[in-house]
Amino acid sequence: MRSDTFPAWAICSHQAEGCLGIQIEPFGRCLAHLEPEELEAALERYHPGADIDISGTRIDARLLGMLLAAFCEKGEDPTFGDARFRQTHFASIAKFGATKFLGDVYFVEARFDRGARFGAALFQGNVRFGHAQFGRDNYVVDARFGGAHFCRDVRFGDVKVSGSLILSHCQFDQGIHLGSFHVRDLNLDEAHYNAHVVVEATARRLTARKTVFQEGATLRLDGVEQCALDQAVLGGPSAIFGHPRCKVTSLRDTDLGQLVLADVDLSSCQFSGSHSLDKLRLEGRIKFGRTPSGLHLGMHWIPIWWWTRRQILAEEAAWRSQMSRKKAGWCDPRHSADKLVDLSAERLVTLYRSFRKAREDGKDEPGAADFYYGEMEMRRKANSTPWVERRIVLPLYWLVAGYGLRSSRALVALTALIAVGGLTLSRYGFAAKGHVYTADVKPLWDSFLYAVGCILSLDVKINNLSENLTRWGQGLRFLLRIAGPLFLGMAALAIRSRVKR
Ligand SMILES: [Zn+2]
Repeated sequence: MRSDTFPAWAICSHQAEGCLGIQIEPFGRCLAHLEPEELEAALERYHPGADIDISGTRIDARLLGMLLAAFCEKGEDPTFGDARFRQTHFASIAKFGATKFLGDVYFVEARFDRGARFGAALFQGNVRFGHAQFGRDNYVVDARFGGAHFCRDVRFGDVKVSGSLILSHCQFDQGIHLGSFHVRDLNLDEAHYNAHVVVEATARRLTARKTVFQEGATLRLDGVEQCALDQAVLGGPSAIFGHPRCKVTSLRDTDLGQLVLADVDLSSCQFSGSHSLDKLRLEGRIKFGRTPSGLHLGMHWIPIWWWTRRQILAEEAAWRSQMSRKKAGWCDPRHSADKLVDLSAERLVTLYRSFRKAREDGKDEPGAADFYYGEMEMRRKANSTPWVERRIVLPLYWLVAGYGLRSSRALVALTALIAVGGLTLSRYGFAAKGHVYTADVKPLWDSFLYAVGCILSLDVKINNLSENLTRWGQGLRFLLRIAGPLFLGMAALAIRSRVKR
């Protein structure tokens, strides 16, 4: 309860208990403190569609049953006009079920000790649940509105629910401000919002699966730990503002073209089947997963390996933990409820390509480079990639240049080329005087200089070396002139991409 102020109505004269219930005229006491015959007389004034004001009154199961019956036609659901339940205390479970509220409804500062059921209720007027509290004394209860229809303006400001707030399958026709909520779980699944909705929540988990946000949504999830929006429809500009530990676990099968994600953790988020990923805007501190660190051992032809440190999508970690031959260090970060069955390298190529484009458009060069690396890795693994590309071109490109992103590899490859080239030249490259096929062993250092000269296309005259090359030597010179500049170029490209960061 928020208010310590005295209520703005004439309160019950049954002062011994400090009752704040509104007086029922002419008895001077609240509904809960009427004598049986007075209560009967009071209830007789009610009829379906009548207004009601039982603010501040303590309502137990028996009294609620009598009240609902007073607003029922035979066989029909209860129907209220304007309904004021301000600071009303529902001591038992408040089962309103398919009640119709034809006028404005106020449950401001109401208390629902044992939870509430408004499933399939119809609210034709404005609805206010500001500062309502569901559950008390660590008693976990739910507030169930599943299937309710709200025709006018709805406000749930600063509502506390010890268990779940269930707004699934609801329909909201007009302005909606949901929050700030303090709930354990917030369920908006399959609800239909015809106007832009603002949700502010502190919750362990928020789900909005198959939810239709016709005009878009603004979700401020300052205190939310997990959030899933698979198959949601975002029909207008939408934003999710989180915090560094707010995990968005799924955006599957959702059109993300109008979505902004700010300050959220996407390390376990699935994007498979989502559309317009390249238009997704990422702002603030966005956390992605990382490749495993350290050295790994296994029964492979190179039994020791490590992973290049980079940002990855959860789907790649899941794919590698299940499909890859080198599983060591990888674990599936997805939450069990959100798991997809069909993981493939081809899907990952598309996902990474879209993310790369989004990061490039967002002027995030390091992010774009990481996703480009992921895209190339998945192309190397995808069965649909042509054999030559998959088995020769991409592995070589990966090995010698880290897809044009790792300058150290290109420099190592260049050094190895000079070392092997120089060594081979010194033994077999230079022809003995008067021979073409017979080699003369030459000093190693001079041969290295000669190899560097070849790479840089310089005509190096070294006194110790004969000018004639053997057939092997000619072949080697050709190789050095082709491969050397290629490695140099890759190193320069990688350094440039690093400097741009
Ligand atoms: Zn009273």
